Amino acid sequence: MAGVEFVDVRKSFGAFPVIKGVNIEIADGEFVILVGPSGCGKSTLLRMLAGLENISAGEIRIGNRAVNGIPPGDRDIAMVFQNYALYPHMSVAQNMAFSLMLKRSPKADMDQRVNKAAEILGLTKLLDRYPRQLSGGQRQRVAMGRAIVRDPQVFLFDEPLSNLDAKLRVAMRAEIKELHQRLGTTTVYVTHDQIEAMTMADKIVVMHDGVVEQVGKPLDLYDTPANLFVAGFIGSPA
Ligand code: ADP
Ligand code: MG
Repeated sequence: MAGVEFVDVRKSFGAFPVIKGVNIEIADGEFVILVGPSGCGKSTLLRMLAGLENISAGEIRIGNRAVNGIPPGDRDIAMVFQNYALYPHMSVAQNMAFSLMLKRSPKADMDQRVNKAAEILGLTKLLDRYPRQLSGGQRQRVAMGRAIVRDPQVFLFDEPLSNLDAKLRVAMRAEIKELHQRLGTTTVYVTHDQIEAMTMADKIVVMHDGVVEQVGKPLDLYDTPANLFVAGFIGSPA
């Protein structure tokens, strides 16, 4: 496992700065949620951590290794996206095995990883189905399965529940937390949903307009918000 560190990270698109000097420390095994309004830079931070976006200045470290310039596939991370982008023509098992196939993992190892992930996620009976034959929640689980089979040092989630209906969203919050308790993998989770952040996070990072406004445990943010923005956003009386 590994912790993650952002050290004075900056990002501009053209002349337009969107990340303006961000420092975050994430401990090994911690479940950290980046929360803030739409457009504040959450996905950009996560994409930089994943290596999908270059950083303009600063440093990102995964497990004490500076990863600037290291391609996504060599960062030992796995990302779960909002639109889970399953391959429609592949079965559940094939969807989960795909990244391992690209890495030319031995078949026995691949099968073992897929079966273990399926067992953890309750997908064992669905391995031969195709995405169109699954419910929204099941598809979300397959997307998580694709991340789990890679046994990464860090899980990244970008708004994984925002396409689900309210009831399923609540159920999946609990599932993702259980998964974290079971695997203990460092997790960086992005959402604009304060309730998701307050109920799921070990530690919350509140972002606003490209800067970190406050970092703290859910109750600390609620009891002692650093400023009016945090108070208003988290919903406590300022
Ligand atoms: P969030 O995930 O918090 O909603 P984003 O990280 O997606 O925010 O975006 C932060 C800001 O960066 C927004 O103003 C967005 O329009 C801008 N942005 C994101 N990606 C690009 C891009 N590829 N080119 C130009 N601007 C971008
Ligand atoms: Mg986003």
